[in-house]
Amino acid sequence: MVLPDHLSFNPHALPPLVTALFVFALGCMVVIREKGSRVSLFYLSYTLAVCAWLFPVSAALLMRSETDAFLLMKFANAGVTLIPATLYHFTVVVLQKEDLRKVRVRAAWAVSCFFLGMTLFSDVLFGGLYHYSWGIYLKFRPAALSFVLYFLAMTFETLRLYWIEYRQPGTDATRHGRAKAFLIAFSIGYLGTLDFLPALGVPYYPLSSVPMICMLALISRAIWQYRLVDITPAFAAREIIDTMNDALIVLDTGGIVRVVNRATCALVGRAERELVGRSPAGGMATSLTFALSLEAAAGRDPLQDFEVTCDMPDGSPRTVSLSTSIMRNPAGERVATVCLVNDISERRRAELERERLIVQLQQANEKLQSMDTLKSNIISMVSHELRTPLTTIKAFVELLLMKQGMSDGQKVKLMRTVNDETDRLARLITDLLDLSRIEAGSMKWQMADLSLEEVIRSVLASMEVLFENKGLQLTAELHPSLPRIRGDRDRLVQVVTNILSNAVKFTPRGGTIRVTLRQEAGPPAQIVAGFSDTGIGIPPAHIGLIFEKFHRSDDELTAAIEGSGLGLAITRQIVEYHGGNIWAESTQGAGSTFYVTLPPG
Ligand code: ADP
Repeated sequence: MVLPDHLSFNPHALPPLVTALFVFALGCMVVIREKGSRVSLFYLSYTLAVCAWLFPVSAALLMRSETDAFLLMKFANAGVTLIPATLYHFTVVVLQKEDLRKVRVRAAWAVSCFFLGMTLFSDVLFGGLYHYSWGIYLKFRPAALSFVLYFLAMTFETLRLYWIEYRQPGTDATRHGRAKAFLIAFSIGYLGTLDFLPALGVPYYPLSSVPMICMLALISRAIWQYRLVDITPAFAAREIIDTMNDALIVLDTGGIVRVVNRATCALVGRAERELVGRSPAGGMATSLTFALSLEAAAGRDPLQDFEVTCDMPDGSPRTVSLSTSIMRNPAGERVATVCLVNDISERRRAELERERLIVQLQQANEKLQSMDTLKSNIISMVSHELRTPLTTIKAFVELLLMKQGMSDGQKVKLMRTVNDETDRLARLITDLLDLSRIEAGSMKWQMADLSLEEVIRSVLASMEVLFENKGLQLTAELHPSLPRIRGDRDRLVQVVTNILSNAVKFTPRGGTIRVTLRQEAGPPAQIVAGFSDTGIGIPPAHIGLIFEKFHRSDDELTAAIEGSGLGLAITRQIVEYHGGNIWAESTQGAGSTFYVTLPPG
């Protein structure tokens, strides 16, 4: 090993050096783990005093020069003089007896400082060095015995305090366990006081490193297990505000942020140091709306709670509720505004969702109710429509059976009416069945390529007699070369027949019926069929309702004409199934036009 000239290697210098390093490391670890609490700082002061003793001892053992070694040993003893005061102070703080023992703590410091002064600035306590086989040691003068006694007294006093704490009934488990662990650790550590023996001329090898290391191991374990943090009101308050879910921001009267908690930092995505000491807008530039709301909230008088939606640094819109309160000093003056910010985005979202569902439910309920009403109406209408022809048929058949002497002409007349009513009944049942099949989706559609012009022409041909009977004039303008469409021929015949038979029914004798067929280029391209008549027309209030089931205009003219109100409902279903549209335009008293559009196939 290469050492400077004034040093000589001595293996006995190692134990105090290693022990000192351990002590120092432990002191630092405790401060870090206990977040720089007051107790941990006192513990650090104790470990520093131990280091101030052991480092110079280790150095002194390496010195060639007697003067250097003596000087270092004096420094080492200076460290020893501080051990009783730091240890005693640490003990009363850890046991929370500081107030009770204030006088004793001060006295301990006074005595330690007295011996420190005596060590550094006088030769009253020490007179040279002893030389032993393992190295040198400080030679205590008789006056130094007072220091040894003081040291031992403080040692026993601290042990006594831990003993009292340990034996005290009702002490909580943590304090009890901690007192016991410290009692054992310090009892072992105090075996190190035997190191005073070589200072008194006894050739005892200074073994303090062994009990010191044992003590350190035990203390470390105790601290890890029970911790040291002193639960002061300030510490508790800080812990509480940091574990709150709500963000807490305290603004002074100048609008400057003084306190924030962890939830605030998380909410605005900024560290505490970036927020404290600045205005909200200055510190929370990325959450400006929020910051401005905060400033507004703090400036309001009287204070009000309110909600605000703002974009947060992560880009998500947040709804927060701000509630504020005033902090006053004992004189009642306002010193700060405390803002509590609760992120209610999720709650608001849930509320909106709930409202949306309620509206949906209400709509569904209304629809159900109207469907229920419709169902009842349909049932009563169906039963009425079915009963009317049945009643007529029954009455006429009874008449035929009862009146024996009826002429053939009379009989034929009655039979014709029965036949007509039977047809009407059959039509009605067919219509009802068609409608229910289409609505239930069980209608069998025979889709094929076909010409709508041909469909219309065939219907016109079949109805020719009807037109003639009623003296109606028919004009047909059917474009000959229109694209074919895809459709069910029978159903499309039904569509054209329904519309034209209405035209015949509702147009007085001598009127005109005009049928047109053309193509509209679109988009989308459409084939448009128009059916106009010069009939009674449709009242404006009914024009939007005639495609509903069982709907008929309520005027006298319509009432006089036979019908069930099902034809147009079926017609619309068929047209819509083909991807087309149907609507009517009409002037009451002048006539109506029905338009049917169908997509080319
Ligand atoms: P129905 O003809 O059997 O009453 P529809 O469903 O075919 O049933 O027609 C419904 C109603 O539409 C008719 O009752 C009538 O009031 C009105 N309507 C239909 N076509 C015409 C038309 N060409 N002129 C006047 N009113 C019409």
